[in-house]
Amino acid sequence: MNDQRTGLIVMISAPSGGGKSSLCQRLLNWSTNLIYSVSCTTRAPRGGEQDGRDYFFLTPAEFEKRIAQDDFLEHAKYNGNYYGTPRRFLEDQLAVGKDVLLDIEVQGAGQVMQRIRAGGFAYPQALVSIFLMPPSLELLETRLRRRGTDSDETIKKRLALAEREMAHWREYDYVIVSGSLDDDFAQGKSILIAEKCRSSRQPKDNPWQQKELSF
Ligand code: 5GP
Repeated sequence: MNDQRTGLIVMISAPSGGGKSSLCQRLLNWSTNLIYSVSCTTRAPRGGEQDGRDYFFLTPAEFEKRIAQDDFLEHAKYNGNYYGTPRRFLEDQLAVGKDVLLDIEVQGAGQVMQRIRAGGFAYPQALVSIFLMPPSLELLETRLRRRGTDSDETIKKRLALAEREMAHWREYDYVIVSGSLDDDFAQGKSILIAEKCRSSRQPKDNPWQQKELSF
C-alpha cells in the first residue's frame, strides 16, 4: 500500500516570448510545495543569470559526459546549445512529495512523455504537461518586438521556430491560450488544484491526507 504521496511533475512548454517565464514565476510564488528544476545548459549565461539558480552552465564536454552517465531525464539541442533536466534531483524531490516544475522546450518534453510511456521512469503518474499557446503569431511578434532585445532577423527565426513548436500542442495534457498574466496564472493554478484532487492521486484508503496538502 502506498501511503506516501508523491509529487507532480509540472512540465510547461511554450514558444519563446509566449509568457512562460512569467507564468512559471507566478506558480512558484503561489505554491510553497512547487520547486523549480534547474536545468543544465551549454549556452552562455545572460546578464544577471547565476550558475546553480537559473541554470547549471556546463561546457559541451561536461554535458556530453553527463549524457553518457544517463544523468538526464531528457536532453535536447536548441538554438545550437544543449539543454537537459537532471534526473536525480527530480526523482528525489518527487519521492518526498514535492511538486517539480520543468520549463522545457518541445523536443525534450516529447522525450519525457516517450520515456514515461515506455516505462522508463519511476513515477509514471506524476506527469502533468501544459502547453502555453500564444494568442496568435501576430501577437507573439508584437511581444517579441516590444522586448526590444532581438534583431529583425532573429525575430523572424523565432517566429518560424514558434510555429513549429506550436504544432505540438496536442501532445500535452492541457493547453492554456495565453492572455493576461492573471488569466494565465488563474488557469495554471486551476490545473494544479484539479490534478491534486484526482482520486487516482490520493494515498490509498486515505484521501483525508489531502487536507494536509500545502500549495
Ligand atoms: P533559454 O536559453 O531562453 O533560457 O531557453 C531556451 C529554451 O530551452 C526554452 O524553451 C526553455 O524552456 C528550454 N529549456 C530550458 N531548460 C531545458 C531543459 O532542461 N531541457 C529542454 N529540453 N529544454 C530546456
